[in-house]
Amino acid sequence: MSQKKENIKLDPPRAPKGMRDIVAKEYYYYQGFFEKAAEVATYYGFKPIETPLMEETRLYTSGIGTDTDIVQKEMYEIKTGSGSIPLALRPEFTAGIVRAYIENGMQTMPQPVMLYSYGQCYRHEKPQKGRLRELRQFDLEILGSEKSIADATVIKVAMTTLEEAGHNNLQLSINSIGDKACRNGYRKELTNYYKKHLAAVCKDCKIRVKNNPLRLLDCKDEKCKPIKEGAPQSVGFLCDPCKQHFKEVLEYLEALKIEYTIDGNLVRGLDYYTRTVFEINAKAMPTEKKTDTETEKNNEESPKTEEPILLALAGGGRYDYLAKTLGFKKDLPGIGVGIGVDRVISTEGFNQELAPRILKKPKIFFIQLGFSAKLQSLAIIEILRKARIPVMQSLSKDSLSSQLGTAEKMKIPFTIIMGQKEVIDGTVIVRNMDTRSQEEIKVEKLTEYVKKIK
Ligand SMILES: [Zn+2]
Ligand SMILES: [Zn+2]
Repeated sequence: MSQKKENIKLDPPRAPKGMRDIVAKEYYYYQGFFEKAAEVATYYGFKPIETPLMEETRLYTSGIGTDTDIVQKEMYEIKTGSGSIPLALRPEFTAGIVRAYIENGMQTMPQPVMLYSYGQCYRHEKPQKGRLRELRQFDLEILGSEKSIADATVIKVAMTTLEEAGHNNLQLSINSIGDKACRNGYRKELTNYYKKHLAAVCKDCKIRVKNNPLRLLDCKDEKCKPIKEGAPQSVGFLCDPCKQHFKEVLEYLEALKIEYTIDGNLVRGLDYYTRTVFEINAKAMPTEKKTDTETEKNNEESPKTEEPILLALAGGGRYDYLAKTLGFKKDLPGIGVGIGVDRVISTEGFNQELAPRILKKPKIFFIQLGFSAKLQSLAIIEILRKARIPVMQSLSKDSLSSQLGTAEKMKIPFTIIMGQKEVIDGTVIVRNMDTRSQEEIKVEKLTEYVKKIK
């Protein structure tokens, strides 16, 4: 009987697979990173934009392309009432921002338009990969410029942002996949090459040969690795303008002292990329096997691989034809980068001290004694907040010693003490926690006084 009852009872609800709560310290990592990234972007002239979390599904099917995993298998579609236009949760930022540029008439603004955005993206990834289905990205876009300096700017800002977040061991992979004029020739060559090796490639690649040959180089299947390595590379097929553009991008990088590797296999998974594509990786040394499984042991007798592992922290590229595929009349050249914030935070090197502004080290700990002081305490905190003086307090504690103890533990240099007598006198006691000296200060003089003490 009781067994039966238990079967009926449902487990309590959990966060959806691949989605997670961000609490306490971790929340501040995200916020700290966002503030740093927004600050760097602002210094370089980027302005903020926020677009809806949902867009019409066709924005992604026509923009990103139906042959990509992102659209084919990974998009979250929203079912609403019958007859309504299908919506999807955004799998990435660029298509939505290009749509917003057009819809808001940003072509009449001084060009290029430089935008940054931050927030969640949704991809229904296979859970066994340990990937998040709700991921957070910091995104930068430069719209309305086909100049190579725009490419270099986006790369530089992304690199600087990651460095400011503590990642000093970065590696930049870059490639050019050409444009309308030269890509078809390359695509043909690539298709011919793969047709010769069709027997040796994976199931997905057999389809890609027909539908989207560029994506053959994206294949992560071990089986396809040797074929991929021998494949013709796009840089060998670039037309003169593409060659010139790529050369200039590399020259900017050299002038900025940014090291790069030209990676002929780098094409990025999205249909809309043209010319420059790139990825910024964190170089991590492989950790000693935690629990070496038997199979691994058998396969590699003496693993002498000192090669660093590359963890992609950011990726992007140029998308000069995207706007037209979305129905925009004119060409709208653009380049952007998405920084995978979850990766940035969880990868070794991230500076966990990167605290958000609201966490600026408090200078004052406010201590109240007795009910009348408690009544006044919020007013005092408000006076200090208005003067932008960060204050900590523990309003639920009552005894002087426990409140002093907390202030000491938090290493806060000054305390403001307010008891019954001070409430009547309209004063507070300011105590230097280091020297233990203290002074009685009139409430109206408090901010002036606190601003001076060091
Ligand atoms: Zn494959
Ligand atoms: Zn070209």
